[in-house]
Parts: sequence; structure tokens; C-alpha cells
Amino acid sequence: MGDIEDLSATSDAPCCSSGVDAVPLPAQARNILISSQCAATPEAASFQVRSWDTPTTRGLKPIRNAADFRASLRGRNYNLYNMGEKATEFCDMPIFAAGINAMVATYEIGDEQPETAMASSKISGVQHSRFSHITESVADVVAQNTMQRKLGQRTGTCFQRCVGMDALNASFSTTYDIDKKMGTNYHERFLAFVKDVQTQNLVVGGAMTDPKGNRDKGPAGQEDPDMFVRVVGRTDKGVVIRGCKVHQTGTLNSHWMLVMPGQRLSPQESEYAILAALPTDAPGITYIHGRQPGDLRAHFESENEIDLGNAKFAGQEVVIVFDDVFCAFSHVFMDGEIDFVSPLVERFTNYHRRSYICKAGLGDVLLGAAATMAEYNGAAKASHVKDKLVEMAYLNENIAGTALAASHLSKQEPAGNFVPDAMFANVCKHNVTRFPYLTARIAQDLAGGLLVTLPHDRDFNHPVTGPLLEKYLKGAPGTTVENRRRMLRLIENMTMGRNCVGYMAESMHGAGSPQAQRVIIQRLMEPKVKMGFAKAIAGITK
Ligand SMILES: Cc1cc2nc3c(=O)[nH]c(=O)nc-3n(C[C@H](O)[C@H](O)[C@H](O)COP(=O)(O)OP(=O)(O)OC[C@H]3O[C@@H](n4cnc5c(N)ncnc54)[C@H](O)[C@@H]3O)c2cc1C
Ligand code: SF4
Repeated sequence: MGDIEDLSATSDAPCCSSGVDAVPLPAQARNILISSQCAATPEAASFQVRSWDTPTTRGLKPIRNAADFRASLRGRNYNLYNMGEKATEFCDMPIFAAGINAMVATYEIGDEQPETAMASSKISGVQHSRFSHITESVADVVAQNTMQRKLGQRTGTCFQRCVGMDALNASFSTTYDIDKKMGTNYHERFLAFVKDVQTQNLVVGGAMTDPKGNRDKGPAGQEDPDMFVRVVGRTDKGVVIRGCKVHQTGTLNSHWMLVMPGQRLSPQESEYAILAALPTDAPGITYIHGRQPGDLRAHFESENEIDLGNAKFAGQEVVIVFDDVFCAFSHVFMDGEIDFVSPLVERFTNYHRRSYICKAGLGDVLLGAAATMAEYNGAAKASHVKDKLVEMAYLNENIAGTALAASHLSKQEPAGNFVPDAMFANVCKHNVTRFPYLTARIAQDLAGGLLVTLPHDRDFNHPVTGPLLEKYLKGAPGTTVENRRRMLRLIENMTMGRNCVGYMAESMHGAGSPQAQRVIIQRLMEPKVKMGFAKAIAGITK
């Protein structure tokens, strides 16, 4: 196993032993010993653990509604840094509020539209969020898309919960396939984990993207072996994980994360083939909150609600550092089986690339904002304005159409779940790398230059400048200046402000940069078959 240290000697310590500090051990081993206490002990968790807890439920109350979910985020004691400072209770910090609200929306839709956002399952037998559901039919896969577009329309941003949904589904069939070939028991462990996640209605994040260092080399070719997440040690109870995941969506708002490899591995890279579930508050994890354009407005000026553009909702990304984090075998679902890394990644991308129907939901919001601005400006009747709105709709429905095609063409895996069609999923995501940029251009066109020259909220409230701005920034009759400002700020927010992360750059890179889709499209496009069609019609027989 390359440079993996054999730390099985440390496993002699009884689970839940309290004498860890008395043992003179190197720092790394001590860290492992502390964290290898059973995951359900109060010392290892942020919560009071009850007698009936499993290693997955570990003190988390079952989440019945949005209020329960909010409560579940408190007291998690994350080792979290934001803008150069250690955060204590992130739930109380204004900069995190909109990101939490977006995840809360995934519970609210469950309450309000259970037919769309809830499911019952063969695994747990209980009603739970569709975000933790393993697809049991084509209708299940399509319902994910329906839910995602609705949530995009409701939040205007990334609501963060699909990476985990897609990772759970990809892991379900991959663990099944590994067991069939290798005689392991990963699938059984995975089912136990999913059952608890569904019963407690928890959030699971999906952690795939490594920092990758020199893109010209794989894990084994890096100067620093930590550029990809790997196993660095073992006890008889589990594995020790080191490395980093970047761009991680919504992890602070999650209870668990599925750590996955992100690319094909060679035989000398087997320690990187680790698929495991970690509690987000596990000892040894450090979070560093990602910046977003306009984040200072949310951090320092959250009272200027109009200037926030979308005061209620935002995405959330973090860098996650795993400093020798212990994971019990109960939550290890792949450990060195390199042949199954590619199938895992491909299944995940088949799900996740058509999950980007979310951006059609955001596009619906932007189309609405552009149409409203045209009305406020008195330009709505112009034929070029109507045509530009048609163009926005056309681009948007192309995203949705290809996502839905992928979902409707889902095929059943031997494990029993349904996986979307690879070609349409990749075409969908490739559309997403382009079309939001085009719809954003039209929205900025119809908004007018005030989009980027509008004064500060405080100037509108100032006794001297306020009345001047009220007089000169009027639009069409019946339009208030305040409503014009609100709509301008929303377009700013989505096309160059905080939520352009979710609408534009995430559209480019999330679920893979454009070239990643072109590689798959090239592989699936069957030019020889199509040459045959052309030759047959043209009468070419040899
Ligand atoms: C907002 C946002 C949210 C995200 N959320 C998540 C998440 O929740 N979980 C998760 O796991 N990931 C997440 N991602 C990560 C996403 O999957 C990656 O950003 C994506 O895979 C691209 O990787 P990268 O950012 O390292 O870019 P790079 O890989 O550095 O790509 C940059 C450019 O270099 C090119 N390139 C890269 N390698 C090579 C090479 N070897 N040869 C030639 N060209 C190359 C690419 O095609 C691209 O054009 C998120 C990303 C964003 C932006
Ligand atoms: S980018 Fe879209 S698909 Fe991905 S987590 Fe955010 S909302 Fe879901």
C-alpha cells in the first residue's frame, strides 16, 4: 500500500477509552486514537448521544420539518474559518444566513409539495426527502428534476443538496457491483447508512473534487501526495483519511458527507480509492469558507436588504481539509478497489450533469426579472424586447429538455436503481456551461446601465440625495423607484453578484468543466454508425 503507515498497533485502545492523553504518541497517531473512539460517543460528536443511536444517527434528532433542520445545524462546533477569523456559531453570522436558508428551502418544499419532494423507500420504509432517496423507477429520476427546477425558481441560487443525492445513488449501485465481484460487504454497510439517513431525514453532501495540484499528473505523480484525498493509516476499526476537497457545496449545512475519488486511478494509487461517509463535525476536519462576489454586503451590510439583491438565498462553498480523520469501517464503502472508481465517477456524473436542470429554474427567475425590468422601463411592448425574452426561454428550455430527456431515458442497474442516460446528461451540462451566460447577457441588456451605476441604499435614505434619486430614477408610470432598484439588484446579484457563483461560474465548472462533457459526448456519438446512415442514403455500398 505504498507509503500507508500500518497503525493497527493503536487500535488496542478500547473504543471510548478516556486515557488517550496519557499515552505518549506522535501527533498523528494521537489524533487517530482520539477520533477512533466510537463515532457515537459524546466526546466525538457535537450532540448528546442516546442509547438507541447508531453510528449514523449519533445524537441527531429526526428532522420532521424546516425548523428541526435549522435546529440541527446549531452547536456543531465546526473548526471553521471565515475571512481570516475562526467562526464560533456559524448559524448566527449574517454571511451564512442566506446559504442556510437555501438548504432550508429543500425541507420547506417537502412540507408544501410532498408529492414532488418526498418519497417512500424500499430501504427504510419511511417517507423521507427525495434528496436522500435511491431511485426505484424512471418516475423517481424525473421527479428529482421536477423538484430541482422548482427549487431553482424558489431560491434563485444553488440550494446545495443535489451533490449528495447524486453521490448516494452512484454509490448504491457501485457498492453492489464491488460486492458481486470482490465478495466484500460494502453494499450492506451502505444500505445501513442510507436507512439511517432516510429515517432521520438528514442532509448528505458530496465531496469529490480534489485540489489536484499539477493537472498534468495523477495522484502518484504529484510532488505532494496530499493533493488527492487518500488513506494514510489503518486500525482494526477503520481507516485514517488525509487530504483536501475544494469547492464543496453546502457542506456546513450537511450532517454527513460522502468522500469520493474524482478520477480514474492506477494500481499504485489504490490508497486514493476511498469512498466513505464522514460526519461533517468529525474531529480533524477544518473548513475554510469560500468568498463570493459581493460577500462584504452580506457580511457587513446585511441590513441594506435591497442592495443584497437576493437577501434570502445564496449558495455556500467551502474548502475542507482532512487532517487524519478517522472513519470506522461501518462507513467505508470502497477501499482500494481501483477498477470501480471510473464506474462510480461516471454514474455520479450521469446523475449530476442532468441535475443542472436547477439552472433552468434560476433562468426562469432571470427571465422574470428581465421581463419585469422591461415593464418598469416602459420598453415591454418593443418587438426586440419580446424577442429577447423568447431567446431566454428558448435557451432555458433547452437546458430543461435535455435534463428531462436524460432522466426519462434512465436505465435500471443490476443493483435496482435507475441511472440517467449519459449522452443527454452530458449534453444538458454542456448546454449549462453556455446558456446561462447568454441569458445573463440579455438580462443585463434589458436592465440598462443602472444595473452597475445605481447608488448605495444609504444614498436613497439620505435627506439630501434620497429625494433627488426618487425624482430622477423614476421609470414607467405606476412603477416605484424602490421596485426598480429591487429588480436591478436581483439581476446584478445573479449575473455579477453573490449568486452569479450559482448561476454562472458553477454552471461552467460544477459537475465538470466543459471539456469533461465533450470527452463523453465524443465517446458516445458513434460517428461510424452515423456514417453508415449517410452512406446508405447516398447509395454508397463499398
Ligand atoms: C460553485 C461550485 C460548486 C462546486 N461544488 C462541488 C461539490 O459540491 N462537490 C464537488 O466534489 N465538487 C464541486 N465543484 C467542483 C467542480 O466539479 C470542479 O470545479 C470541476 O470539476 C473543475 O475542476 P477544477 O475547478 O479543479 O478546475 P480545473 O480542473 O483546474 O480545470 C480548469 C481548466 O483546465 C482544464 N484542465 C484541467 N485538467 C486538465 C488536463 N489534465 N489537461 C488539459 N486541460 C485540463 C479544464 O478543462 C478547464 O478548462 C464545484 C465547483 C464550483 C465552481
Ligand atoms: S448546482 Fe444545482 S444541481 Fe448542483 S447542488 Fe446546486 S442546485 Fe443542486
